Amino acid sequence: MAGNEEDDDVYNNSHRAFLQSFLSRATLTFEEARPILAAIKNAQAQDGRDIQPADITEEDVSTYINVTNAAISPFDLEIRNTLSQHDRTRIYALVNVSSDSITQLATTHTPDEISWVKRCLDAMFETNNSHRSEVLAIKSTEALRLAKAPANQDVEATQGAQAQSLTMMQAQRMLQAMVDEGWFEHSKKDFYTLTPRALMELRGWLVETYNDDEDERIKTCSACKSLITMGERCSDLDCSGRLHHHCKRMAFRAQNNNERCPVCKKDWDNALPVGEKAAVQNRRSTNGGASRRSTTAQTDGADDSQNDSTADEG
Ligand SMILES: [Zn+2]
Ligand SMILES: [Zn+2]
Repeated sequence: MAGNEEDDDVYNNSHRAFLQSFLSRATLTFEEARPILAAIKNAQAQDGRDIQPADITEEDVSTYINVTNAAISPFDLEIRNTLSQHDRTRIYALVNVSSDSITQLATTHTPDEISWVKRCLDAMFETNNSHRSEVLAIKSTEALRLAKAPANQDVEATQGAQAQSLTMMQAQRMLQAMVDEGWFEHSKKDFYTLTPRALMELRGWLVETYNDDEDERIKTCSACKSLITMGERCSDLDCSGRLHHHCKRMAFRAQNNNERCPVCKKDWDNALPVGEKAAVQNRRSTNGGASRRSTTAQTDGADDSQNDSTADEG
């Protein structure tokens, strides 16, 4: 009786309650998991102890996850965790580990909508992911342009059925649905990228779809080995060295604080951006020296140049 709360390593109603909290949302951060676990433990406790969210450690969470994972693995489900690419927040997600996890979208979306999602992923991981520039994101305008299905489709990829175009309205609704369902995240600069949960869930599919012997389009961080869609890359375009911003310190510490590429050992000072910043950099470098004269022809860079003529009046 006394050891009742020690039964955390046997799957029981408390783990079921924990699993429910994953089913009701796409992901949980450690900070979100703490009050949930505290409430579950309090409901279970028979000695009137009051467990506070602050009492819950990462170890408590991982104990619950290990037991839950053992119970759900026959259903091809697994709770995985990763660090946010923006900061070091730990994120837990219930992931479908079956081989073609993208098919789970089929439970809530039509085949034409899923074809559009795949066109968006092609744009992220092929069109906007070149040797020179790894943007790995799409702008909303681009996502809406992809509403139109291509005329001659790869029959194998569409499983025999030609995908039909979405209307603008449908594409707009799908873009929002992908955010609401936890697949896409939307940046302030209007770029859509895959969420940490989507990267965990689609990892196998992405590697299978976009990597081949000649080209590894899906890259991993040289420090944490997770997929990388935002961060930095080695200045040598042929080098596979990639680091998340928050993994840099760990990587450099491991090589005696030498701020060098973990792969080729070149200076990391001139590292290039991975993610939406690579799109900005790309535009700058293609405009080159002509940008000063051609600002009138451009719509997006026009506002910062206008001050030049009006600023000094002598
Ligand atoms: Zn990393
Ligand atoms: Zn390198």
